[in-house]
Amino acid sequence: MGEHSRIFLSPPHMGTEELELLASAFASNWIAPLGEHVDAFEQELARYVGVKGALAVSSGTAALHLGLRLAGVGPGDTVFCSSLTFVASANPILYLGATPVFIDSEEATWNMSPVALERALREAARQEKLPKAVVIVHLYGQSADMGPLLALCEEYKVTVVEDAAESLGADYKGRMSGSLGHFAAFSFNGNKIITTSGGGMLVSDDREALERARFWATQARERVRHYEHEQMGYNYRLSNLLAAVGRGQLRVLEERIAARRRVCQRYEAKLRQLPGIAFMPEAPTGRATRWLTALTVDPQQAEVTAGQLIDALERANIEARPVWKPMHRQPLFAGCRYYPHLPEQSVSDELYARGVCLPSGSSLSEQQQERVIAAIRQCLSGRGRAKELGHVQL
Ligand SMILES: *Cc1c(COP(=O)(O)O)cnc(C)c1O
Repeated sequence: MGEHSRIFLSPPHMGTEELELLASAFASNWIAPLGEHVDAFEQELARYVGVKGALAVSSGTAALHLGLRLAGVGPGDTVFCSSLTFVASANPILYLGATPVFIDSEEATWNMSPVALERALREAARQEKLPKAVVIVHLYGQSADMGPLLALCEEYKVTVVEDAAESLGADYKGRMSGSLGHFAAFSFNGNKIITTSGGGMLVSDDREALERARFWATQARERVRHYEHEQMGYNYRLSNLLAAVGRGQLRVLEERIAARRRVCQRYEAKLRQLPGIAFMPEAPTGRATRWLTALTVDPQQAEVTAGQLIDALERANIEARPVWKPMHRQPLFAGCRYYPHLPEQSVSDELYARGVCLPSGSSLSEQQQERVIAAIRQCLSGRGRAKELGHVQL
């Protein structure tokens, strides 16, 4: 790779066994749909996460859609959802004709604020309009603070759907992310910690519920010879070829986590001391995978904004991204209710204004990472000098 070739945010990273497994799927002529690799991928992932069952599907979004339908979500219902997330956490709420209510983040994990959730649930109970489900997102490889969040959902008897698309391999007090709610969704999209190019998994301890989702995901075909349909279904299953790739990726998952954690540690060691830079904290409640290394830039101290830093990296042919734009700021969800962390403090808005995600791939070389670090240092020191010369207006 050339000295100035593009550095990507989170590119796919294949191991050595994926191609062999894919070839074995080809040789068996079980191309799609289904086949032995789908069954094995489901079992192996369920064992890794520590749940009783899993259903391999075509995307993480499909897994969330099925999880919410299992929770009984339908037209006219409300569903609570983390605001600081990718739109795929919330779209399935719309697919089901329900209305999302967005819940802010807290500073310690960047994930759902128990304080905001409590306020939202209390108010909903008073209005006799409790949500059918709460979608709790685990951002950037870090578990939400599930203890208090689950206690609240239990108190109000609301189903919990974990959006674990970004947190495969993270844990919370010794339990794997995705094993704590009633249902959880993983994603194997191209940018995730392991990938099948596209794919997802719905997991749960409720095997009977997973069988209903399996039925819906295969066009809800009744078990008779002719094509009989009593319910609406989807074409959501994962191909056997992609499941073969997923099995190979699962075998190297722990190595991928270790590599991403090393990437994050190197960024922290070399950038922590820069004025105005603060890293997404790793909560003391468990291991974060550091799927993406995220930091915030305080424009007063750093004398650059997050947007200016992303622009500077782009000029050096380095892909960096803002932190997710909160759902309560999206035109798609204009008019939806939102509960900030505190009545006068919206943490997700602060993180969006200041947040930057850095290249974090498990295949990022130390030389490539040095290029990113040098570009960040140069950006910050350059602005500082310009300010001394009186050129900067923030
Ligand atoms: C990637 C992602 C999804 C969606 O997964 P797909 O497999 O792309 O459908 C959902 N939620 C979050 C938070 C994600 O990052």
